[in-house]
Amino acid sequence: MALTVETKDRYSRQIVLEQIGKAGQERLRKGRAVIVGCGALGCAIANSLARAGVGELRVIDRDVVELNNLQRQQLFDEADIGRPKATAIAEKLAKINSNVRAVPFVVDVNHTNAEDLIIGCDIVLDGTDNMETRFLVNDACVKHGIPWVYGGAVGTSGTAMAIIPGKTPCFRCIVPEIPVAGKLPTCDTVGVLNTAPAMVAAIQSTSAIKLLTGAVLDSVIFTFDVWEHSFSTVKISRRAECICCAKGKFEFLSSERKDIVTQLCGSNAVQITPARLGKISLAELAGRLRELGDVKLGDIVLTFKVDMYELTIFTDARVIISGTSDEKVAKSLYAKYIGS
Ligand SMILES: [Zn+2]
Repeated sequence: MALTVETKDRYSRQIVLEQIGKAGQERLRKGRAVIVGCGALGCAIANSLARAGVGELRVIDRDVVELNNLQRQQLFDEADIGRPKATAIAEKLAKINSNVRAVPFVVDVNHTNAEDLIIGCDIVLDGTDNMETRFLVNDACVKHGIPWVYGGAVGTSGTAMAIIPGKTPCFRCIVPEIPVAGKLPTCDTVGVLNTAPAMVAAIQSTSAIKLLTGAVLDSVIFTFDVWEHSFSTVKISRRAECICCAKGKFEFLSSERKDIVTQLCGSNAVQITPARLGKISLAELAGRLRELGDVKLGDIVLTFKVDMYELTIFTDARVIISGTSDEKVAKSLYAKYIGS
C-alpha cells in the first residue's frame, strides 16, 4: 500500500523497524485505543500511542489537573491546573500529531457507561488508580472480547499484564476479588517515583502496538522495582473456576457490585459505601495519612482533614466526605486516600 510522504517521514524510524514496517504502520493508523484514566500512566500511554500513529484515542478521566500531578503526569503543564484532564490531554495530542483523532470523555467510568465507552475499539489501556474500575474494565472487555492491558505503579515498583479474552487469563483469574478497601497502598499515601509509572506505561504501550500490528502477546505478568533494578516475568494460566472469563458472569457490570454513593441531605457531604465492605485498621490508615493532613483517631472513626475536605472513615471502610456534594470529587478522594 502507498503511504503518504508525510507519513513516511513522520514515522520513518518506526517503519524501518522490522517488527513494524509499512504494513504495521498502516495497521496502527487504523487502530482505535481507549485510555481509561489520564494520570501518570494515561499521559505516558497517550503520548506514546499518539506519536506512534494510532488512529483514534479515546481518553477518559473524571478529574482535573492539580499541581501535585505535574511531578509525573507528562502531558500537563502549569497552565493546565484546574482543567479537566481528558480535555487537556486531547488538546495536547492534537498538537503532537494532528493525524490522530483524540476524543476526550470527562466522565466517571461506572457500570452504566463502561460498555459504551469501549465498544468499537481494538484495545483498552488501564491508567486508573483503583481496583473497582479495573474489575469493571475486565468485565466489559471480557464480555465484548476486547483486549486490555492492566498497569499499576506505586512507590518505586510496578506491574503490567496484557489480557486477551478467550486466550489469556483475565484479571479475575489473577485477582479473584477486590482487596478490602484501605489495605493497598496508593500513590497519595506512600508516594510514587515518576520513573515507575513511565516504565509501566512503556510496557503497556508496547503491548498495544504489538497487538494492533498483529504480533503475538504472551500470558505473563511483568513486575519490577526501578529503584532496586529488579525485574521479573511470570507465566500465568487461566483459572478454570474464574467467575468472569470461565463462568461468564459479569458482576461489576451489574449494580450489585457497585460502590453506593449517597448525597447526604441538607449537608455538603457525600457518603461512599464500598461494594466490598470489610474491617480496616484505622490505626494503620492513620499512620499513612498523618503526613498528608490533620488526623484524629478515635475508637470507631478516623477523621482526616485535607484541603477543604473532611473524611470520616469507619472501620467497615465506609466514608463520609464533607466539603463537597460532587460524587466525582468524593470518589476521587476515596480512591486517593483510602484506596480500593
Ligand atoms: Zn478469568
